[in-house]
Amino acid sequence: MKLSIKENASLAPFCSMKAGGNAKYICTPGSIRELKCLLSLMKEKNERFMVLGNASNTLFSDEGFDGAVIFTSKINGIISEGRTITAECGAPLNALSLQAAKNSLGGLEFAYGIPGTVGGGVFMNAGAFGGELCDCFHTALCFTPDLEEATLTKEEMRFSYRKSILSENGYILVNASFLLDEGDGKAVKSKMDAFMSMRREKQPLEYPSCGSTFKRPKGNFAGHLIEQCDLKGYSIGGASVSEKHAGFIINKGGAAANDIIKLIDFVSDTVFEKTGVKLEPEIKIVRQR
Ligand SMILES: Cc1cc2nc3c(=O)[nH]c(=O)nc-3n(C[C@H](O)[C@H](O)[C@H](O)COP(=O)(O)OP(=O)(O)OC[C@H]3O[C@@H](n4cnc5c(N)ncnc54)[C@H](O)[C@@H]3O)c2cc1C
Repeated sequence: MKLSIKENASLAPFCSMKAGGNAKYICTPGSIRELKCLLSLMKEKNERFMVLGNASNTLFSDEGFDGAVIFTSKINGIISEGRTITAECGAPLNALSLQAAKNSLGGLEFAYGIPGTVGGGVFMNAGAFGGELCDCFHTALCFTPDLEEATLTKEEMRFSYRKSILSENGYILVNASFLLDEGDGKAVKSKMDAFMSMRREKQPLEYPSCGSTFKRPKGNFAGHLIEQCDLKGYSIGGASVSEKHAGFIINKGGAAANDIIKLIDFVSDTVFEKTGVKLEPEIKIVRQR
């Protein structure tokens, strides 16, 4: 088996913010077998590692990461059986929703347009337009930290807002099954298209970003609070609060990751000073090398 491992390589091209320093190793396994092999290699060598999907919710500092970053996007098989669709960790959420529409199954329309993978989506309990992945999640096959296989049920995943047990137990998601509702394929697809149009209209998709920078605070919207504090368009270096949607911090061109992080901290501090609301980042920021 020939494993794809790049040494001391830039994370920026792999990350949706198009910023970030170098990783000691960047690995792009092409199968679950290769993923398992890499994980055991890293454990054996006592290397730190992180498993990522599309890094559409992850930002590394300019100092990078002193370990292996394993991107799963090449592990992306999807199979369907009746009302169940099972997708491997690196399958794009878009492909998963399209497969559901093709099979005339409803329940995943909201996920169309979220640029993450099944692994990152389940980890984050990704959601939009009133839906969340936990709504139709059935089971997940995972590797435990000892690389044993474990199947987790919906209850065992302990989903909450943008969170699952995977952020606590160190399990690596191998694949996930979703149980969907029988529907009308055309109606499912037109709902997906409507959601996509809303995204194009409201979100700054023309710039690299990690989507909504902050979690939705109780009873409010991060974007409203940021706008209220006159921060729309506020920039540090190439990092900017989007004029189109204040909830997004964008890379306007060549932004240093550390400027993006400084801007996230500045926005959070300013909103707290002016409104008393503490904004919590939704983005996973890897500050330490
Ligand atoms: C333009 C844009 C729009 C967005 N819109 C939305 C939205 O509407 N709703 C929403 O919820 N999010 C949204 N996001 C954020 C992001 O796409 C989601 O959080 C998505 O689920 C992240 O998936 P990913 O595969 O890119 O995760 P990554 O960023 O790669 O990883 C996120 C976390 O999951 C972990 N992880 C990834 N794969 C695995 C695995 N196989 N096993 C265990 N852990 C794993 C990582 O270690 C990391 O901690 C948006 C982002 C962008 C850029």
